[in-house]
Amino acid sequence: KAKEAGRNTFRFFEPEMEAGVRMRRSIEVDLRKAIQQNDLVLHFQPQARVDDRSIVGYEALLRWTHADKGSISPSDFVPVAEESGLIIPIGRWVLDEACRQAAKWPEKCRVSVNLSPIQFCDEYLLQHVEMSLANSGLEPHRLELEVTESVLVYDDHRALSTLKELKRRGVGIALDDFGTGYSSLSYLRRFPFDRLKIDRSFVSGATSDSGLALIIRSVIEMGQALGMEVIAEGVETEAEFDLLRNEGCDEVQGYLIGRPQELTPDDMLDTLHTEAQRKVNANIEAL
Ligand code: C2E
Ligand code: MG
Ligand code: MG
Ligand code: MG
Repeated sequence: KAKEAGRNTFRFFEPEMEAGVRMRRSIEVDLRKAIQQNDLVLHFQPQARVDDRSIVGYEALLRWTHADKGSISPSDFVPVAEESGLIIPIGRWVLDEACRQAAKWPEKCRVSVNLSPIQFCDEYLLQHVEMSLANSGLEPHRLELEVTESVLVYDDHRALSTLKELKRRGVGIALDDFGTGYSSLSYLRRFPFDRLKIDRSFVSGATSDSGLALIIRSVIEMGQALGMEVIAEGVETEAEFDLLRNEGCDEVQGYLIGRPQELTPDDMLDTLHTEAQRKVNANIEAL
């Protein structure tokens, strides 16, 4: 973080920093326990096609229920897990668990798993992915890995070869939080992404800010021209949905379609049922 602040900024050692360090230590200790005690769970958030709102995938989002502190957001503990190296075993569990659950879903549903840049640089990543697929029996094309622009900036060559190896095995790759990082547009041409995820920060203001709407339009056009599918994150309102549909966005994800939740086989059946009903209704309307 100090590095991010830039070369020209001075950092004094402040009391709050010490408290911050203590806080992180305690999270780290508790996180180790959480892994052993199975206190981590995955929630899944649906991703829908824009044309008929059918659900075609779910993103796995990590949840930690802490005995005293309650539910802790991944934005708070993933950075600690990254600094302490715990992200490797955690990430491995996430991959395993996501594949295990997704193998029971309807065939057309894929699962998206977030990868930390640290996992991405791990020399065992490919092996872990292969083992999760083999153990679960999930077909590789139903697994999608979400990476952020930072993996591209880190180590260009290695990142490119890892991405290509994953793709060669049939696994999909999505570029998460697109528009918030520092990567240059030329990366998009060189890296073989299957999907571009437009960050929520562009979506949430787009219906009232024509500048944001214009950015969304350009990203969709550019992504599709480069052979990628485009999905928008954080879609909360019908107005945002309409805007994205008018701009030709392929898929959406957000509270409008569904919040992240634990998925039981019954939930899965409900989803299918509602969808079947929607198709019947659409057919009736068409008559
Ligand atoms: P992300 O991958 O960009 O995930 C999207 C985040 O936006 C999730 O937050 C999700 O709950 C939230 N979200 C989805 N739709 C809406 C919406 O309509 N409105 C609003 N306001 N928010 C929405 P969450 O679950 O707290 O996760 C935060 C971040 O933590 C994720 O961002 C991802 O970067 C990271 N993360 C989550 N799970 C994992 C994991 O298993 N491994 C790693 N390495 N990182 C993870
Ligand atoms: Mg994500
Ligand atoms: Mg995202
Ligand atoms: Mg985001």
